Amino acid sequence: MPTSSKIESWASLQAYNSFGLEAKAEALLRIRSEADWRFALSQEQSKKVLGGGSNILFRSDVEGLLLKNELPLWEVLSENEKQVKLRVGGGHGWHETVRRCVEQGWGGLENLSLIPGTVGAAPIQNIGAYGVELKDHFEGLWAWHLQRGEQRYFDKKDCAFGYRDSLFKREEKGQWLIAAVDFRLDKKPVLRLDYAGLRETLAEQGIEQPTVQEVSDAVIAIRRRKLPQPRELGNAGSFFKNPIVSTALVAQLQKEYPDMPHYPLERGEAKIPAAWLIEQCGWKGKRQGAAGIYEKHALILVNHGGATGQGLWALAQAVIESVEKRFGIRLQAEVNLW
Ligand code: FAD
Ligand code: NAP
Repeated sequence: MPTSSKIESWASLQAYNSFGLEAKAEALLRIRSEADWRFALSQEQSKKVLGGGSNILFRSDVEGLLLKNELPLWEVLSENEKQVKLRVGGGHGWHETVRRCVEQGWGGLENLSLIPGTVGAAPIQNIGAYGVELKDHFEGLWAWHLQRGEQRYFDKKDCAFGYRDSLFKREEKGQWLIAAVDFRLDKKPVLRLDYAGLRETLAEQGIEQPTVQEVSDAVIAIRRRKLPQPRELGNAGSFFKNPIVSTALVAQLQKEYPDMPHYPLERGEAKIPAAWLIEQCGWKGKRQGAAGIYEKHALILVNHGGATGQGLWALAQAVIESVEKRFGIRLQAEVNLW
C-alpha cells in the first residue's frame, strides 16, 4: 500500500489511550519505517507523536497529523563479558523490551517492569519506579525533528534528565520523534532492592539472593496488587508528580502533620508523596460523575466508564486547588495534557 493511502482521517483514539477516552485524530499515520517518516515530513500539517497513549489526557480531538510510533529495531551494538549495548526501536513496547532483557539475564531495567507504553516515550519523562530511572541505563537516542527533518543523536547529557523530566518535556517539547534508544545493560547486575517493599516481597518467597528475573517478577507482583489495569479501569498511572519542596517547608508542615512522609533529596530539598497530600484532602475513592480517584491509590485518576477528558481535567483541577489551599503546595500534572 502506498504510504499516502495509509493516512486515516478522523481515526478513533479510544484504543490508543489508557484512559480509554473517545478522542479522534484529524489524521493518523503509523510510522513503521523511514519511508513512512519521509512521507510524514512531506505533509504540511502540524505534527505530534503518539506512543502507547499511557501518559496522555486527551481533552479534545487532536488536530493535524498524529504520528503513531511503531518503529521496530533490536540490535546489539557491542558486547563484552561485563556489558551489552543495545539499540531498540522507539515503537517497541516498553515492558516487552524489559522482558527480553531480563530473559537474557541482562540487568538494569528489571525494576521498571510492567510500565506501559513504548521505548520511544520512555526518555520523555525519564520513566522511573522502585528507585531506578531510565537514565541509569541510558546511553543515547536517535531523534528526528518534526519540522526540519534533521536526524540527531542525543547523549545522556544532552537529554538533561530530571525527576520525571527531560529536555523533551521542557525546551524541546513536541519538537522531535524519538526513533531509537540505546541502553547499557549489565551482565553482572547490581540489583537495587531498597525500595518500597521489594526486599520484603522477595523475602516472603524465601529469596535472599535474587536473579534479575526474580526481581522483575517481584516488581510485577507488587504492581499488579497496587495498580489498576488500564484494560479494566482506564487510567494513566500517577496523574501528578510528587512535589519537590524545600526542607524548610517540610519542617513547617511537620509541626502540623508530624506523620507526613517525605524523602530528603540533595540541595536542601525533599520529595513529598502527592498521594498522601491528596488523601489528606479526602479525595481517595471520590467520584465526579464517571471521573474518579482510584480507591486504593490517591495519585491515580480513573475513568469509571464514559468519562471525558474535560471531566477528568475538572477533577484534577479540583484536587490541585484543595491541596494548594491546605498545604500551600501546587501539584503539577505528570500526565501530558492535550
Ligand atoms: P504516550 O502516552 O503515547 O506519550 C507521552 C508523551 O510522550 C506525549 O507527549 C507524546 O507526544 C510523547 N511521545 C511518545 N512517544 C514519543 C516518541 N517516540 N518521540 C517523541 N515523543 C514521544 N511512568 C513512570 O515513569 N513510572 C511508572 O512506574 C509508570 N507506571 C504506570 C502505570 C500505569 C498503569 C500507567 C497507565 C502508566 C504508568 N506510567 C509510569 C506512565 C507511562 O506509562 C509512561 O510515561 C510511558 O513512558 C508513556 O509511554 P507511551 O508510549 O504510552 O507515551
Ligand atoms: P509507593 O511505594 O507507595 O511510594 C509512595 C511515593 O513515595 C512514591 O511515589 C515514591 O516516589 C516515594 N518513595 C517510596 N519509597 C521511597 C524511597 N525509598 N526513596 C525515595 N522515595 C520513595 O509508590 P507507588 O505509587 O506504589 O509506586 C511504586 C513505584 O512505581 C514508585 O517508584 C512510583 O514512582 C512508580 N509508579 C509510577 C507511576 C507513574 O505513572 N509515574 C505509576 C505507578 C507506579 P517515586 O515516585 O519518586 O519513586
